[in-house]
Order: sequence, then structure tokens, then C-alpha cells
Amino acid sequence: CVLQVLWWGPRLAASSTDFFSAIPQMSCARKILNVIFPTKSPTDVDRAVKAARAAFRLGSPWRRMDASDRGLLLTRLADAIERDAGYLAELETLDNGKPYAISYCVDIPNVVKCLRYYAGWADKWEGKTIPIDGDYFCYTRHEPIGVCGQIIPWNFPLLMQAWKLGPALATGNTIVMKVAEQTPLTALYVANLIKEVGFPEGVVNILPGMGPSAGAAIAAHMDVDKLAFTGSTEVGHLIQQASGSSNLKKVTLELGGKSPNIILSDANMEEAVEQAHFALFFNQGQCCCAGSRTYVQADIYDEFVERSVERTKNRVTGDPFDLKTEHGPQVTWETQLFKKILNYIDIGKKEGAKMLCGGKAASDKGYFIQPTVFGDVHDQMTIAREEIFGPVMQIMKFKTLEEVLERANDTKYGLAAAVFTKDIDKAHYLSSGLRAGTVWINCYDVFGAQAPFGGFKASGNGRELGEYGLDNYTEVKTVTIKVPQKNS
Ligand code: NAP
Ligand code: MG
Repeated sequence: CVLQVLWWGPRLAASSTDFFSAIPQMSCARKILNVIFPTKSPTDVDRAVKAARAAFRLGSPWRRMDASDRGLLLTRLADAIERDAGYLAELETLDNGKPYAISYCVDIPNVVKCLRYYAGWADKWEGKTIPIDGDYFCYTRHEPIGVCGQIIPWNFPLLMQAWKLGPALATGNTIVMKVAEQTPLTALYVANLIKEVGFPEGVVNILPGMGPSAGAAIAAHMDVDKLAFTGSTEVGHLIQQASGSSNLKKVTLELGGKSPNIILSDANMEEAVEQAHFALFFNQGQCCCAGSRTYVQADIYDEFVERSVERTKNRVTGDPFDLKTEHGPQVTWETQLFKKILNYIDIGKKEGAKMLCGGKAASDKGYFIQPTVFGDVHDQMTIAREEIFGPVMQIMKFKTLEEVLERANDTKYGLAAAVFTKDIDKAHYLSSGLRAGTVWINCYDVFGAQAPFGGFKASGNGRELGEYGLDNYTEVKTVTIKVPQKNS
């Protein structure tokens, strides 16, 4: 069964300055999503795991389905999401606060592309024939792992859902997914679409609910074979521990970052300023790979800072349903988010960084924070070391490439990095030395369903997207057959 349960949180009432104008869309959503209550206990998780296990049993419709038909179902899901793109984008913006233009033009098209990409893989994820010694025929089969727990965050609710559904379903697994308590709406709408396009009962089970109850119950469940998690590094530790103290389920983690963005003095200034601005402020700074340590070479530092501050002051902040808006509210007020960000700004000032613009809540209504820039930041300052997950830019000065490489790598994280330069040798030198899962050169936040993404060090284990993403959802079985050497 695809579970359709919805927790109706109070957070929406204050997540946008113009919330009430959006109510007609909300009532429309309520007609489509039929049951309204949160996942309360491990019992709900247990029911979902049982449904997923039943759907995975040998001989079930899902296990007997041709791989090409699994691909077809994923294609149909992508088509249904594309058909309902306007509605889903509205719902995403209501729930998360991100500008509608971004939900519609960035998030949803990437969701559709991701599902279509993995639909194509369903009947192409081949094993090998292996020339082992002796009279044997040896081959490998790529088999689904089984029941996959998936726990996703609130910053890209639909996209994170697609990144997890695509490879897991293409490879024939079944799923118990816990969505973030702040943003359950679009995932639940997609649950309806999953049912509509004809996935067999029990293959996908979507649960809203709280991390410490529903999430922890999935992580510790003895009958979940694999767990894929995206979120904070703190919870990543808990997930890994839960696996270790339960059934050693396979764990993949996409965690936080403090990604260096290195601007060399030969870079195209205009592009570097715009891209560094985008690298940090996109999605209200709520990106795991945000370019949150901007290193600028000394001879262009002053000009870069001045132009970055000017660009940031011009960032259009406001009603996310206004198509001109670049910057909406933070997702919620909770201590770990809206208040936490304002607290980091205070710490930055106290530790001696120079606040060049922003620095306050942007309105007494909603959770808007002024896009903020700090200059003269030093590597040991708290704002240069910890993930802020908000619209706060840190700019640091460096002189040589050797120096910046060492400083850029001096972090527990290793999710992403970027370099802006016209010099190909310098680009190669830095990109090969940076300890990060993704390095962008003269661009930032360029994602494709075809290219893997994931972290070095405390930024995670495993890779999502691309062919590499299929590994995380596959067991490799080696089959060896004795080959008779004469006809008996
Ligand atoms: P989080 O607590 O790690 O949440 C991510 C997901 O894990 C949510 O579904 C959450 O449930 C769940 N969860 C929480 N505690 C859990 C537990 N004990 N066992 C199993 N699952 C659990 O992140 P957050 O609270 O939303 O944000 C806090 C910080 O995490 C941010 O400031 C940011 O630094 C980081 N973050 C990173 C990413 C990323 O893409 N890497 C995304 C979001 C946040 P709930 O919905 O109930 O919290
Ligand atoms: Mg949380």
C-alpha cells in the first residue's frame, strides 16, 4: 500500500509574508490528499516495512516484473509529475518557502529528468561474465538489496525524493521513505501519482513524521536492508550507529558541507561575483553544497568584495509567489534554522568578522533573513568552520595556490568545491588537490542526473545520481557453473 498520511504543521502559517493569498491552493491540496495525521510511532513504520517486505517477496508482481516494465513505470511517473508541474511547484513553494519560479523552472524539471534517467537504466544495469580459472562459467547478477529505508530533508523535498526513488526503483527494490516533517506535502502528492501510474501495492511507502521517532525506527529496524539518508552530519552519525547496533543494514549518507569557492585573480570578475553569489544564496543558503567559504586572491579582493556586497544588496527578497523574487523565507523558525542563522551572524560579529551588508531578519513577519556578507573572515572563526545553512556569505583573502589548497582542505567536510580561473593549469592543480566529491570549474551548482554527487570525509558515504548511484541499491551475486569438458 502506498501510505497517504499528512501532518499538517503550524509552520505554514508563518513561512511566507503573504501566506493567506495561497489558501485556495491549500484547500485544493486537501481534496487530493485524503488522510491527515502524522506517523506517531514505530508501529506505523513497522506496518510500512511489512508492506515493503511483502511487495519484495519472491514471485510478487514487483519481483516478477520485467526490468523494462519497471523502467516504463518510472517514465510514467515522470510524465505524471510533468503534467502536474504547476500544482506541484505551488505546493513546494507553500511548504518550503522557496521562490515559485525556482520550484517550477529548476526543481520540477530536474525531478522529471532524474526519474527519466533512471527509467532508462532499469534494463541496462548489467552484470559481467568473468574468466575465472578452471572449467567454469562465472557471471554476476545485479540484484536489488531489498527493503530500502530512505530519510530525506526539507531543502529540496521533491528533488531529494526523486534522487532516492529513481535508482532504488530502477534496480527493483521496495521503499519505506520518511519525508522531512517541515515539508511533507509534495512527497505525499507524488505518493498519489505512484499509485496512479500503476506501481504494485507496497512497493513505495511514504511516511511523514518526526526524525527521532519515525526516522530512528527505520534506521534501527531489523527488517530494513539498506538505509539512504540525506541531512545533517549529526543525524548521519546516529544513522550509522543505528545500523551498527541493529542488523548492519547498508548505509549511504549525504551530509553537510562547508564548501570552498576559490576565485583566482585572473578570473572573469563579473562571472565570478555572480556565481559566488549564486553559490551561497541559492535556495536561501539552504544547500548542503553551498559555496560557504569564498576564498579570493589578494590582488582582486577589494574589488570582489565591493561588487559582491552590491550584488547582495540588490538581491530581490520577498513573496516567493512573486516571479521577480530571488530570495524567500527560511524554511522554519526552529532553533536549528531561522534562529540558528541569526545566532551565527551574532557570533561572526563578536569574533571580529566585518559585516558588510544584511545581518538581520528582513521582516517582522515570516522567516526572512537579509542576505548577509561578511568580509575579513579568518579560517578559525566559527562562521568559517560550521555549516550555517542560511544566507550568510564568508569572504576570505589568500595569496598563493599552495596556501589556499591547504586552507580549503582544512575542514572535516568534503562535499563540493569550485575554482574560478582562466588558467587551465591552475584549474587542474586545484581540482586534483581539493578533497571534495564534486569540483566545479568556472561554474557552480551544475547538476545532472548523469553525474554522481556525494561527499569525501564527514560529508558522507556513497554517491547519488549517475551510474554510480545504482551501486548503492544493488547486491552483486556471483554465480559459478561447472562446465563439463566432454559429452557424457
Ligand atoms: P536533520 O535533522 O538531519 O533532518 C534530515 C532528516 O532526518 C529529516 O527527515 C529528519 O526528520 C530526519 N531525522 C532527524 N533526526 C533523526 C533521527 N534521530 N533518526 C533518523 N532520522 C532523523 O536536519 P534538519 O533538522 O532538517 O536541519 C538541521 C541541519 O541539517 C541544517 O541546519 C543543515 O546543516 C543540515 N541539513 C543538511 C541537508 C543536506 O542536504 N545535506 C539538508 C537539510 C539539513 P525531521 O523532519 O523530523 O527533522
Ligand atoms: Mg531535524
